[in-house]
Amino acid sequence: MASKVGNPSMKSRLRQVRDTFLVFGSPLIGDAEIEEVVAVLRSGWIGTGPRVARFEEGMKEYTGSQHAVAVSSCTAALHLSLLVLDVGPGDEVITTPMTFVATANAIIHAGAKPVFVDVDRETMLLDPEKIEAAITPRTKVILPVHLAGRICAMDKILSIARKHNLFVIEDAAHCIEGRYREQRVGSISDLTCFSFYVTKNLTTGEGGMVTTDNPKWAQKLRALALHGMDLHAYHRFGDRGYQHYHVVEPGYKYNMTDIQAALGIHQLKRIEASWERRNAVWNEYQQAFSGLPVYRPAADEPGIRHARHLYTILLDHEDCGKSRDQLLKYLTENKIGVGVHYTPVHLHPYYRITFGYQEGCYPKAEWIGKNTVSLPLSARLTDQDVEDVIVAVQQFFTV
Ligand SMILES: *Cc1c(COP(=O)(O)O)cnc(C)c1O
Repeated sequence: MASKVGNPSMKSRLRQVRDTFLVFGSPLIGDAEIEEVVAVLRSGWIGTGPRVARFEEGMKEYTGSQHAVAVSSCTAALHLSLLVLDVGPGDEVITTPMTFVATANAIIHAGAKPVFVDVDRETMLLDPEKIEAAITPRTKVILPVHLAGRICAMDKILSIARKHNLFVIEDAAHCIEGRYREQRVGSISDLTCFSFYVTKNLTTGEGGMVTTDNPKWAQKLRALALHGMDLHAYHRFGDRGYQHYHVVEPGYKYNMTDIQAALGIHQLKRIEASWERRNAVWNEYQQAFSGLPVYRPAADEPGIRHARHLYTILLDHEDCGKSRDQLLKYLTENKIGVGVHYTPVHLHPYYRITFGYQEGCYPKAEWIGKNTVSLPLSARLTDQDVEDVIVAVQQFFTV
């Protein structure tokens, strides 16, 4: 069966279905965003200013957190969150290998060591049952990642953290719309980090945010994100007279600009509508692929809202006679953009060489890394786009 993949008559039939490339993760940008960006450009203030403050207010309200600090990326958000908790050389941070490398890189940037714990195969999330065995006297933080938009077992993670006196930082790059029982993502743990990268559920081109209920951490985050200055540039050049600044520590250049925030303000207004659209596409995929020899996303746990960031199917060659890479090739040849989330972090050369990780260290993450495919799931998809994806995936299994 597998040898027939890429059969030319099949390919030409599909080419009629779709003649433009469907870009994976293409964002939905409305006129409101475009007009707001133009207004920023005309305003004379394009740096960190009033629109960043408005976007931060919006995120506070949306997440239910006390403080929101905008930064230049989620990578920066993670780095600074670790720094405000005084994580540094000699410390260990427990996280998942099934994430984007930025999660682990940020731990390295802080000077600490990432300690991976394998995931649960079905949820693809950090397995809480395995966390305690990885805790050492050097452990300072647990850093769960809400992969694909599914929220980790936060009750278990928080109780382990409390028992061992550890902090919790959430990587919520995929999970801005997540709800965990009565709580919203962004107000569950010590610090929560969001990404507004181009493919994420809300985009500012590049951007990130940290939310926290702790005012001291928020203040420190603000200073560290702008050179360690104790006053923000906007206040310095405002109409209240020149103000001298003082550098309280050698900070970073991680601030967000008003051009980015102009996008964020309007993306945030449309966030629920975008979620609804992705949820509808998700449900269509779930139904359409129910008869295929693939692993579909696990059902939602009651009381928990999945943020619907990535729709993934997994193909085990032993089960279905076809490989993940064959599907990647087939779909891209048929003009459908796909993604792989992710090759487990520990298998990247830097992590193998530096920490001696190898194949077999985290078997469940490795199984996912070999077999997973992410299909387009953007609010921008038309009904026709969704049908094209479904037809192409179904045909892959029939040729
Ligand atoms: C995208 C992503 C990041 C990094 O976000 P940036 O804003 O690009 O720095 C971190 N973690 C996860 C899980 C991501 O998907």
